[in-house]
Order: sequence, then structure tokens, then C-alpha cells
Amino acid sequence: MAPRIFFRVPLVCTNCGTLNEARTIDLSSSLGNDPEWTYAEPGEALDVAPEELEDEFLLLRRSDGARTIAIELWVCGSCKLYSPARLEFRTRTPRVIEFVGAIAVPALTRDVLDEANFVTRKIEEWTPRPGEDALRIEELRRRI
Ligand SMILES: [Zn+2]
Repeated sequence: MAPRIFFRVPLVCTNCGTLNEARTIDLSSSLGNDPEWTYAEPGEALDVAPEELEDEFLLLRRSDGARTIAIELWVCGSCKLYSPARLEFRTRTPRVIEFVGAIAVPALTRDVLDEANFVTRKIEEWTPRPGEDALRIEELRRRI
């Protein structure tokens, strides 16, 4: 299994409003092959081919350019609730993607899922909230 990479970005929890510092944030995905490599800051290049994202995430639609959007779930250090984050990657070479940054998204709405290329497999544990795209979330959960 690929090592877990923590994405070091500060995010404000959309549930309780607490700022989670970049250094301690619980936002990670299993990516790449380097066991020594444990975190990525915005602008950092990762030795990961764009298609390797398909090992970790569920594919919604292939990216038609250099930009790839993936939805990952993170845990707030204060209220301990899961919420979604929108990760952005940029393809630099066929073997390297750059971690551009991440923002917190309040809900998995249709617009958020329409824009994303990938969704975390942790969606399996997600219970749709009012206003979210419950149908598509259910579909995605069935693909796990
Ligand atoms: Zn919180």
C-alpha cells in the first residue's frame, strides 16, 4: 500500500469554525512509493503519475487538462467531525503532479461533485446531509 501523505494546508472547519493549522491537520491520502515522504505543502511536486490517483480515489471523470480536482475527507482536530476538502493537483510531467492546494468545502453538493475528477474511497462512510447530492453519493458508495 502506498504511504500516507499529509497535505499541509490550513483549513477552517465548516462544522465548528476552528482553524486547523497546516502542520497538524488531519488531511491525507495514500499516494506514491516513497515511505520516507510523509507530507506535501502547496506548490510541492509529487512523484506520482496522474493515473496513479485512480489507485487511491474513485474516478468521476478524467481531467481534460493539467488540472485535477480530488475530494478527500479530513477530520477537524476540535470537533472531530469529518468534512470534505477539495484538493487541487496540476500535471507537470507524465510522472509528476504538483499539489497546488486545498480548500474546505461545506457540503458534497452537485456543483462540487460536477467539478471533481476524483472522490476519496472514504465516501463509503459518508452519510449525505440535506442539500447534498445524495443520489450520486449513494452511487459512489456502491462502487467501493
Ligand atoms: Zn470542527
